[in-house]
Amino acid sequence: TGAAAGIALADLPLRDDLRGLEPYGAPQLDVPVRLNTNENSYPVPDDVVAAMSAAIGAQLRDLNRYPDRDAVALRTDLAAYLSARHGRQVGPAQVWAANGSNEVLQQLLQAFGGAGRTALGFTPAYSMHPLIALATGTTWLDGPRAADFTIDADAAVALIEARRPEVVFVCSPNNPTGTAVSLEALAAIAAAAPGMVIVDEAYAEFARPGTPTALELLDAYPRLVVTRTMSKAFALAGARVGYLAAAPAVVDALQLVRLPYHLSALTQAVARAALAHADALLATVDALKTQRDRIVAELAAMGFRVAASDANFVLFGGFVDDDQRRVWRALLDDGVLVRDVRLAGWLRVSAGTPAETDAFLAALRSVHPAGA
Ligand code: PMP
Repeated sequence: TGAAAGIALADLPLRDDLRGLEPYGAPQLDVPVRLNTNENSYPVPDDVVAAMSAAIGAQLRDLNRYPDRDAVALRTDLAAYLSARHGRQVGPAQVWAANGSNEVLQQLLQAFGGAGRTALGFTPAYSMHPLIALATGTTWLDGPRAADFTIDADAAVALIEARRPEVVFVCSPNNPTGTAVSLEALAAIAAAAPGMVIVDEAYAEFARPGTPTALELLDAYPRLVVTRTMSKAFALAGARVGYLAAAPAVVDALQLVRLPYHLSALTQAVARAALAHADALLATVDALKTQRDRIVAELAAMGFRVAASDANFVLFGGFVDDDQRRVWRALLDDGVLVRDVRLAGWLRVSAGTPAETDAFLAALRSVHPAGA
């Protein structure tokens, strides 16, 4: 064998700040009930599959050509979706799309973060925010949350004024806690921030009635960005489509850092077919919200601590002495995969089908009969 076979990661001239890191990722295990990555449990309906197949088929002959670099047709459809859903005009020039909202977030930090700059987030929140900061050379700053996982607006504003981060992340509804941030707190943060404010709304479609979206603040705050995804409510995690809404100048900035032709013609075609069938795909959202609310109620009745959820998952706990690790393992032995989000005392479960929820609740009762 050649020299290449014997080289280990530690032998490579890797960046110092990447040495010793583990790759991010939840276990992808083939078990009957998978409730660990906040996917939509419902498969794509047959008529939407047919429409997507036709849309892909129509692209195949032209794959000798690069796709539309600016994804104008897709951005037009995404803008129409946001406008229709939220009753406010969002234009294609305000929308940008990429391979999952993770790529959108990475492009935002490539443009607005980087060496010598700081990004602030209120943790626990989506763990990719600090990881994307790391990968883009952006310094990360942890901001606090209250005991009920809400963000105290005064404390947030004071921290922003003291540290003046170039980027502020607000995840709402927040992963892994499920909690949403009030419009007043968002506005206070946006008013105080000297740089960009990124509101990660990956779970927006699952919010309970009356929960606001930061889209309402876009007109007033030109450095505000709202990121969304088709991975959750649209049941399209495998297609990798995320997007943002912001001032057109923000889109101009991202076009400086995006790789040319980053979004394949096939991805653009699938996403457009999905958006043409948005009602059929989003029909599962109400069913998932019903299971989410059922999980919250039943776990609370069992004696667990449960975080308020506006997302398609529930953070529950009250586990002591690392008991969440034992419970995670015991649930897995019963064929139910939930998420250990590395938050002492807590586990996270995605809301799935009624049958999946039944299986989760039954397994939890058997492995942790007394509640917390
Ligand atoms: N933001 C949040 C808060 C998430 O939970 C996720 C997915 N787990 C993402 C962004 C990224 O999702 P995607 O790249 O599939 O759009």
